[in-house]
Amino acid sequence: MFNSLSDRLSATFKNLRGKGRLSEADVDGTVREIRRALLDADVAVPVARDFAAAVKERALGAEVSEALNPAQQVVKIVNEELVSILGGQTRRLQFAKVGPTVIMLAGLQGAGKTTLAGKLAKWLASEGHTPLLVAADLQRPNAVTQLKVVGERAGVPVYAPHPGVQSDFEEVTGNPVVVARNGVSEARQKQHDVVIVDTAGRLGVDEALMQQARDIRDAIRPQEILFVIDAMIGQDAVNTANAFNEGVDFTGVVLSKLDGDARGGAALSVASVTGKPIMFASTGENVNDFEVFHPDRMAGRILDMGDVLTLIEQAEKTWDKAEAERMAKKFADQEDFTLEDFLAQMQQIKKMGSLKKMLTMMPGANISKQQLEQFDDKQADRIEAIVRSMTPHERVAPKIINGSRRARIARGSGVSVSEVNQLLERFTEAQKMMKKLAAGGGIPGIPGGAA
Ligand code: GDP
Repeated sequence: MFNSLSDRLSATFKNLRGKGRLSEADVDGTVREIRRALLDADVAVPVARDFAAAVKERALGAEVSEALNPAQQVVKIVNEELVSILGGQTRRLQFAKVGPTVIMLAGLQGAGKTTLAGKLAKWLASEGHTPLLVAADLQRPNAVTQLKVVGERAGVPVYAPHPGVQSDFEEVTGNPVVVARNGVSEARQKQHDVVIVDTAGRLGVDEALMQQARDIRDAIRPQEILFVIDAMIGQDAVNTANAFNEGVDFTGVVLSKLDGDARGGAALSVASVTGKPIMFASTGENVNDFEVFHPDRMAGRILDMGDVLTLIEQAEKTWDKAEAERMAKKFADQEDFTLEDFLAQMQQIKKMGSLKKMLTMMPGANISKQQLEQFDDKQADRIEAIVRSMTPHERVAPKIINGSRRARIARGSGVSVSEVNQLLERFTEAQKMMKKLAAGGGIPGIPGGAA
């Protein structure tokens, strides 16, 4: 869904790479690009404007982290602002303390409410709940049948009596308010702990629809009113969300059809415009295409960051200032990067945790599952053993390490000669990379290619 927005943002960040520090003009240009990318993705104008202003203020401000270069700082700021417009913290469902928890669904016709009802019911059941689905959408001719099908797929019972039938509670009429109320009574009697009430939508927002939704709400007093919005509808999403927010005062948003290829920015604006959290996402027609919405993870996906934030946090936590200053001085004095330094850097990385785990969090690392399985954290230990088997002179002048020295080092560290060769090759690469990095930014403490 957010592919083109992702591409635009990463192109913007790429322009910052290698810059030692950012001038005001750099920040201005970057922020302008970000705002354009958001607008082109259909993010609502005021949301894009506020977003850009916040990024600019923070990027120009004194917010500096010693562990990050300027480009990384901008990514970090953009990420945090994205999380914030997506609602900040993950918001969980609120359950009733006594009696069944009532969840009411609202939204336009075709938004994906009925489909979502099934997904939500299945997910709740998998979490140990005993949901009941209630078909209070009497507007659409086949809505009741559709809910029954959906319920069957989800393995969840559906309360959907025919109009004119005397139920245990009250004569069922074509009145959705009565059906909804009876559905909740049924759930109470049969001891379901959650009731999901599907309501009617219309093609557009109108007062009769809102009134009906309000009447149902007042009759069943739900803990949660979830507003389901089709993420494909573009800028209209914001107006529709505002209308429903005023009309029924929903408690949370569900983004549906996130699997589509629409630009998606409008969906990104909904939480910010209404002040209500996005709680779930619907990502396909199948009953399992459903996710709990996590603002931070969604932001990470949009920024194509893997879990770079966890990486950044770990870098900040284990950041060794003295070691970084020593390296910086070496660069400034144009001293060579030696195997001693290589070893020190390996140790810095090891402090951040398992290399294997780090690889999985690395964005754009493009590592297949199979490669990852073959990757062995012990490799880092072997590298360390190899370097430790070298004499101090060899470590600073690796050029002298000839064939017989290689054989000795291999014996000393319990590895094969070819592993020693590989390490030396890799070191030469890292040395070149460090020369390049000395000119620009780069994650300090991480030699390129060392993993
Ligand atoms: P309602 O009128 O709000 O109850 O909407 P429906 O649940 O009937 O959904 C309308 C259409 O959208 C149906 O054809 C669904 O199969 C489809 N749909 C619902 N959710 C999704 C989704 O997440 N992804 C895709 N691709 N289609 C969906």
